[in-house]
Amino acid sequence: MATSLLHIPPPQMLLRPLVVPERLLLGPGPSNVPHRIQAAGGRQLLGHMHPEVLQVMDEIKAGIQYAFQTQNQLTLAISGSGHCAMEAALFNLLECGDTILVAINGIWGQRAADIARRLGMLGTVRWHGRAEGTRFGLVQHKPSVLFITHGESSTGVLQPLEGLGELCHRHGCLLLVDAVASLGGAPIFMDQQEIDVLYSGSQKVLNSPPGSAPISFSERAREKVLRRKMKPPSFYLDIGWLGNYWGCDGEPRRYHHTAPINSFFSLREGLAMLAEIGLESSWERHRANCARLCQGLLNLGLELFVKEEKGRLPTITTVRVPEGYNWKDITAFLMDNHAMEIAGGLGPTVGKVLRIGLMGCNSTSENVNRVLQALRDALSSCHRSRL
Ligand code: PMP
Repeated sequence: MATSLLHIPPPQMLLRPLVVPERLLLGPGPSNVPHRIQAAGGRQLLGHMHPEVLQVMDEIKAGIQYAFQTQNQLTLAISGSGHCAMEAALFNLLECGDTILVAINGIWGQRAADIARRLGMLGTVRWHGRAEGTRFGLVQHKPSVLFITHGESSTGVLQPLEGLGELCHRHGCLLLVDAVASLGGAPIFMDQQEIDVLYSGSQKVLNSPPGSAPISFSERAREKVLRRKMKPPSFYLDIGWLGNYWGCDGEPRRYHHTAPINSFFSLREGLAMLAEIGLESSWERHRANCARLCQGLLNLGLELFVKEEKGRLPTITTVRVPEGYNWKDITAFLMDNHAMEIAGGLGPTVGKVLRIGLMGCNSTSENVNRVLQALRDALSSCHRSRL
């Protein structure tokens, strides 16, 4: 036998079959993908400029306009996860000399500030602790963009947005909102609430695989991008190019990048399922199952992290890690004994809370009962005095 020229052999692990266990994903995302959406993602590929794919993209655009409640033409899905949409918003909106005011009420404000700071010359970040101080921040710092997270998945807090868009516009500022964790689970009205850039993700309420992220720019935001002196620092995320590829500018569509076509098929189905259920029923479903879960957690003697019911994010519930327990023991117990994922805290809540997500098709009373039963078992098995 001829000696091989290869000094790296084929990896043994790749010669074994792919392993993907069944698991109930009740963490802060991703959530489980229903068969219909899985099947759409498993369809044969088409070319990224084929008319059928462009048609699917038009359908996604209409689905996002519905989910966001907006008529904005510049509405599309970014080829990337929620972070990618966050970067797309910031890279396109901010330029040299701009100031961004970031409302920091959890990890996502911190991340937005981090991204804005990396843009260096493109923006000055003003840290801001609490949303109530926004008016003061707008007057003092005169930002051109205000960033705020609607559903803070690290704390389980739903941020009220009423009046914020109008307030920003009175101060010559654009409103940028992260709705990755809240879209479809809590009411948001992009046009009525005067939100200028809104983005979300595919893997939460939309029950689609991660990797495509809905985003929309208002006319005000589009004009700010058009007035830029320099092109946005990312070619991949240049909203002018993306808008053209998505048929938002009335020009012939040009190749920009090879889009994740199968992810678009899945996202199309995720949005179709939301349209079929209807936004209002979807909000009500998340509200009702979150309320059931919260009551069940209280009945178990646990303490909810967000005291005020109104302030609770209906998609992700945070509950304090009870005295005498380590959160890791509880999450590991659920994974090992119930094939169920729930998560520990993130950013400011690390070590303090457990996070339970009920999103899209996972938001059912049956899943509420399952997770409560699993937690009951965990509480009787994981107390540190027993270990
Ligand atoms: N914003 C919020 C509120 C989120 O919950 C997440 C994901 N947990 C993101 C942004 C980032 O999304 P991704 O992980 O898809 O990049």
